[in-house]
Amino acid sequence: MEKYRNQPVAQIGILSYHTCMVKMKKIKVQTRGDCDVVDITGQVSEAIAKSGISNGTVTVFNVGSTAGVTTTEYEPGLVNYDIAAAFEKIAPRNGSYEHEKTWHDDNGHAHVRASVLGPSLTIPVIDGQMTLGTWQQIILVDFDTRPRTRTVICQVIGE
Ligand code: ZN
Repeated sequence: MEKYRNQPVAQIGILSYHTCMVKMKKIKVQTRGDCDVVDITGQVSEAIAKSGISNGTVTVFNVGSTAGVTTTEYEPGLVNYDIAAAFEKIAPRNGSYEHEKTWHDDNGHAHVRASVLGPSLTIPVIDGQMTLGTWQQIILVDFDTRPRTRTVICQVIGE
């Protein structure tokens, strides 16, 4: 690039221009709580389609500290039994939690589980499609002890 140092951009003629865009859509997700696993793949796909961005990444972020986001094969065994059973081992519902002593609520296990799972997921978007596997869906897992309406931010960055 040294030989181009003092030349006006118009004379160089080798630069191509890309417009990086940032688009955001909020998704509302109804849950039943208590380790409810909800497939949000369709809503995230819609957010990407509406963004007009065809190459980049989408970040899917749950707002709140008692639910999380990941991927799974969305089939009844995993969704209704196996995921809940695993989290019951990690942070049992009837365990003892300092959080509950502090706030006099009943969801210490929900906060711990959400921290372990994590609040967000980043997925590459190529040619307008997420690079998910055929048997890989995006799920929100709600660990709270009551039904909730969750807000999930889909932020698409790319061109
Ligand atoms: Zn709490």
